[in-house]
Amino acid sequence: MQYRSKSIEDTNKLARALAEKKPPIILLEGDLGAGKTTFTRFFAQALGITEPITSPTFSIVKQYDRPVSFVHMDLYRIEDEEELVQIGFDDYLEAEHLLIEWPKVAEHLLPKDALRITIRFEDDERVFEWEDTFDISL
Ligand code: ADP
Ligand code: MG
Repeated sequence: MQYRSKSIEDTNKLARALAEKKPPIILLEGDLGAGKTTFTRFFAQALGITEPITSPTFSIVKQYDRPVSFVHMDLYRIEDEEELVQIGFDDYLEAEHLLIEWPKVAEHLLPKDALRITIRFEDDERVFEWEDTFDISL
């Protein structure tokens, strides 16, 4: 599936549509500035989270507990699986919803059925792509 976002509001629409399907794990890939955290903020809001969503680039993990448990990770600064173990990565897999920016380093520790979304720039659009099995209509 592909979705072309021309604006912040487009990204909000996509996040809301995906949140309705309640995917337990989302992996978000895309360069710096692609719009990963922006998508995450709208996704969390669509789950009913009212607490402000701040980027976990420096903290690595942010956890939200109401009204559902939602864990937001940014693994950009994690170098290997050993560091992941140190932050207690396995425990976070238990959250109702987990979203990971820069997931590559965790590849071997993730379930196969996680929803993998890539975001790339194309002209003035941001193109979101994910596997067809996760079908939404927009
Ligand atoms: P990332 O987390 O991938 O590094 P951010 O979500 O922080 O990227 O977004 C980087 C910048 O791009 C922010 O200023 C954000 O407001 C802007 N942005 C994100 N998505 C869009 C969009 N769909 N249209 C226009 N600007 C966007
Ligand atoms: Mg980010």
